[in-house]
Amino acid sequence: MPERKVKRPMSYSKFWTYSDCPLQYKFAYVDKIPEAPRPEYSFGRSIHRAIEQFHRRGPGKTTAEEMLRLLDRSWDTEGFLNPEVERKFKRAAREIVRQFHADETKAYRPPLAVEVKFDMEIDGIPFTGRIDAVSKLEDGTLEVLDYKSSEEPITEDDVSKNVQLGIYQMAAEEKFGQKVGRRTIYHLRSRKKVSAPALTDEGKAGLRRAIVTAVRCIEAGEFPPRLSESCPCDYPNYCPYFKDKDEHRGQSQGHLVDDYERTGLSHKDIEDVVVQYAALLEGGKGNSLLASELEAKMLSYCQEHDVLRIWAGEMTVTLVRALEPSGESYVTFAIGKAGKEEGATVVKASQDDYV
Ligand code: SF4
Repeated sequence: MPERKVKRPMSYSKFWTYSDCPLQYKFAYVDKIPEAPRPEYSFGRSIHRAIEQFHRRGPGKTTAEEMLRLLDRSWDTEGFLNPEVERKFKRAAREIVRQFHADETKAYRPPLAVEVKFDMEIDGIPFTGRIDAVSKLEDGTLEVLDYKSSEEPITEDDVSKNVQLGIYQMAAEEKFGQKVGRRTIYHLRSRKKVSAPALTDEGKAGLRRAIVTAVRCIEAGEFPPRLSESCPCDYPNYCPYFKDKDEHRGQSQGHLVDDYERTGLSHKDIEDVVVQYAALLEGGKGNSLLASELEAKMLSYCQEHDVLRIWAGEMTVTLVRALEPSGESYVTFAIGKAGKEEGATVVKASQDDYV
């Protein structure tokens, strides 16, 4: 087997980040630009610690008050905008912990293990992680469980397409030598456990293939930006789709190409060009000489500023590469609106291929 260039172990977060947007992966894991701290991460981590303690000591030895004290003692203060926001999150966390204690102590079934660390290999790729909880089901199979403290409700379809649980299934089967029969998300805010059956052998093979493909692309240095639901991520100042936006302007990191004609256009000038171009397209004159002139200006501007998108208020034009029926490629512009990316190159990461 050829030696792999990716020496550091893969993890679910790395794999998810690459699948979502390869450029975001590069910023986070190759360039190691620190992510902005997020309140919801601190919130989730603090609740996880209280739940872990509950399971480790058992409900008989952990009262709700003790859980709350632990939550207070180990509260993660990172990422909150101001003390009022932090208080709001803390109130919600305390409520979750109180409800969790009340629900779990009614008919407690201790998990087989909590916070289960794993190291496995997927086709020679080291892969590490930690499973929130693994339980034994009545039929002798295992259940892998993940606690979620987010607000969005969870459906069975979400669980069945959840890649993280698919990876946990493979890790638990290897670590405990038993089949997983159920994958579950415990949605703490709604106090609901939502389950889906285990991945089939075919599903696991598809997931392995997807991980291997991602690692090959990383090793080959393939980091194209991909618009996704995470946009803008933590790196808008560096991203060619976002660094032209008002609040990120002036942060250009250099140029992609050298042989372009400098426009010398200010951002205000190019905004006017964008508005004119959009009006032409709307009036059905997308093929006119003027449209071509405006496109040439926008293209030069994009190259000059190393951006793939020009923002004009809430309107955007995105540079896209399109294919002629002959197979020849050319660049054009797609008009869009912030948040609604119709016509632009939105590529949503799909997990349907491997579940
Ligand atoms: S803003 Fe979007 S396209 Fe740009 S790096 Fe982040 S995820 Fe990728």
